[in-house]
Amino acid sequence: MSHERFGRRDLFKRAATSSALLGATGTALGASTAFAQDAAPVAAAAKVPTKVLGATGEKIPILLMGGEFPFDPKFDKLLHRAFKEGMTYIDTAQTYSNGKSHVGVGNFQEQVGRDNIWITSKAGLWGDASASPPERYRDALLHELPILRTDHVNLFYMHGLQDVKTLEPGWIKMGQDLKKAGKTKYFGFSCHDGTVVELLNKAASIGTAGIDAIMFKYSFAQYGDLELNKAIDACHKAGIGLIAMKTQDSVPQDKEEVKNFQSQNFTLAQAKLKSVWADERITACVSGIVNTTILKENTDAAKTNAQLSMKEWTQLNQYAARTSDHRCAFCNHICESRVAGDLRIAEQLRYLMYAESYGDHMGAREKYAALSPGQRNFEGVDLGAAMAACPRRIDIAARLQAAKALLA
Ligand code: SF4
Repeated sequence: MSHERFGRRDLFKRAATSSALLGATGTALGASTAFAQDAAPVAAAAKVPTKVLGATGEKIPILLMGGEFPFDPKFDKLLHRAFKEGMTYIDTAQTYSNGKSHVGVGNFQEQVGRDNIWITSKAGLWGDASASPPERYRDALLHELPILRTDHVNLFYMHGLQDVKTLEPGWIKMGQDLKKAGKTKYFGFSCHDGTVVELLNKAASIGTAGIDAIMFKYSFAQYGDLELNKAIDACHKAGIGLIAMKTQDSVPQDKEEVKNFQSQNFTLAQAKLKSVWADERITACVSGIVNTTILKENTDAAKTNAQLSMKEWTQLNQYAARTSDHRCAFCNHICESRVAGDLRIAEQLRYLMYAESYGDHMGAREKYAALSPGQRNFEGVDLGAAMAACPRRIDIAARLQAAKALLA
């Protein structure tokens, strides 16, 4: 997307139109505001709507069930409830909850019927930013299929790619071979670090002959990122299905902002989801749903026809600008290349985000502990050049100190 095609001005125009429509029929979606009482009902779908995933022609729900949880291996009530709401797509991975996610998903798909649920799984994130051999991805999927109790997944991703080399012919062939062997229907990758733009551009140049879909970090806070928008445009034009993750892009200030967000229709979390769905290039958002309250909040937002108003867009944009110095872009190549040794700045800030914003203290501590002392210890390391180069003007020293205080 160029700014011309999908800039903030266009979003505002579209939002204003939606808002005008909403004025006649709008209602709140459980948004905790006094405005809700005066609002009239707005049309809502009975189930989460679907949208076609790129050139695959397959319709998937616009709201996908994130699978980074140890689902109940016997009967997971939340998965079943989400399924009834139309969330017939689970995004899981070999590494999620130390393998327990796959066990739970395997059981769940037998309960609802394999043909009724879309399973996406991933392999990778083995602790090294450089490319792992193609065989490692292939073998990981083959190993996991019996745990998922199925002979295939619908979509297989190389997980958390950083190295663009991972999109060279050997890896693409591995994906095609898995498709030919019926082990996966579609193939792609997920990414959320500093090389997202590079990876998306490379994927667009390969096209759907090699990459069917990509899941990448995308949120309301990235609308002004021209290079990212161009890369998204290129993938969309190439027919590659695009799925957004980490759409909440949470920062500690969210707790306060939730109270301050003024809307007749949406909570802050719903508004963040709506802002991503407003981008016609994105098929769906993956959401980490941990309880029925969040499930309702998410599915209500997906099902309603109400769109963000100009006022809501403005609040989101202002909030993104105000908190950008707490929102690491995970462009680790910028800061980490400017410090001596193997210090992992972006990873530590991500784990800090898991704890501070998502409340996942245990998971964050586990990940923090898995870093080597050289990757973790920043005392004595000159961070001056890294801080000067950081595009978000993050006080890296202070945030690493905060990570240590919370996670060590
Ligand atoms: S600290 Fe700054 S430079 Fe480093 S990854 Fe985060 S946003 Fe990028």
